[in-house]
Amino acid sequence: MYFLDYRYCNCSSPSVTLIFLDRLGEPMGKAVFLYGREDARIDPFNLRDGRPGEVLLDVAAVGVCGSDLHYFKDGGIGSAVIKEPFVPGHEFGGFLCEDIEELALQRGSLVAVDPNKACGHCAWCSEGHPNLCPNVEFIGAPPFDGAMTQRIWVPQSQLVALPSNFDPLQAVMLEPLGVAIHAVDLARPRLLERVALLGAGPIGLLVLQVLRVAGAGDVLVADPLEHRRAAASKLGATRVGASAEDIIEWTKSEGCSLVVEATNSPLGFRDAVRTARIGGRVILVGIPDGDTYTLPAAEARRRALKIKFARRMGEVYPRAIELVASGKIDVASMVSHRVDLDATPGVFRALAENAPGYIKALIYPNGEREPGRTQ
Ligand SMILES: [Zn+2]
Ligand SMILES: [Zn+2]
Repeated sequence: MYFLDYRYCNCSSPSVTLIFLDRLGEPMGKAVFLYGREDARIDPFNLRDGRPGEVLLDVAAVGVCGSDLHYFKDGGIGSAVIKEPFVPGHEFGGFLCEDIEELALQRGSLVAVDPNKACGHCAWCSEGHPNLCPNVEFIGAPPFDGAMTQRIWVPQSQLVALPSNFDPLQAVMLEPLGVAIHAVDLARPRLLERVALLGAGPIGLLVLQVLRVAGAGDVLVADPLEHRRAAASKLGATRVGASAEDIIEWTKSEGCSLVVEATNSPLGFRDAVRTARIGGRVILVGIPDGDTYTLPAAEARRRALKIKFARRMGEVYPRAIELVASGKIDVASMVSHRVDLDATPGVFRALAENAPGYIKALIYPNGEREPGRTQ
């Protein structure tokens, strides 16, 4: 519910400016809304009231994730279908709008947010797998609005305090880095083990670096996009090729004992299986377009592969912060675009079309300012 107000009209000019005002007469915010398939719009956004235990943040920056792109390209992911327009954005950092004494955080401090709110009492939560909680409330997954807007209320329990020298980009990238850490936790690479990595998008490029930190040996990377292969080379890939066929050839058809799949392709699972050595392990991190995998069963069965699906992440933030703070993981060089809120629908389209030069896009809904920072 919002009102139009003409108080801001410039009456000496024939042009009339409309400003959206909320019920209190404050200028309204705006947000990116996904309405359905290939339909992203900027609309006025009426910030809801805060609930007990929540704190208000000015959104500093928010990332466009591959999962956001699936909502854009397919109108949903599996049974999670867009029924009503929602605001995406689960990778974000924000500036506190108030002091939080319990956490010794001051107004203006930059924080990250863990978007995953597990119930804490189901079987999976009690077994230590909050990422598998079926009662999860995930900020930025429908029906829960996310951070592609200027201000957001978040539960204080989901705030992640950051070192004082972190910037908004680093705050945002902790979430996708967490996905990569979780994937490598599942993969458990052996020291100097040779790994095949399919996909050099943001998650693939983070997995690549975490594999290196975890002691993996050669990492053979395949991605059809030239600029992503170049990024993989820069971030530590031993060899880069355009497809899984290259990896199969380099390994003389033997394949790799560990394969990590981080593509968005329905053929990603098939390619991962074909790239795996007999008896090898396959970790599936990517979400396939169209929510369907296709592979000949015998290819996987005859190799007796051990296959794991990575689902979001476990307890990763302290390690993600440590990896970024120590400089062991480069999260900045894969950020190819930084835009404002109004440019976001165009960025969704460009990413969906694999436009040249696009890897990771960050949105700065309040501009690239850093209140409280002297720089
Ligand atoms: Zn994500
Ligand atoms: Zn639970």
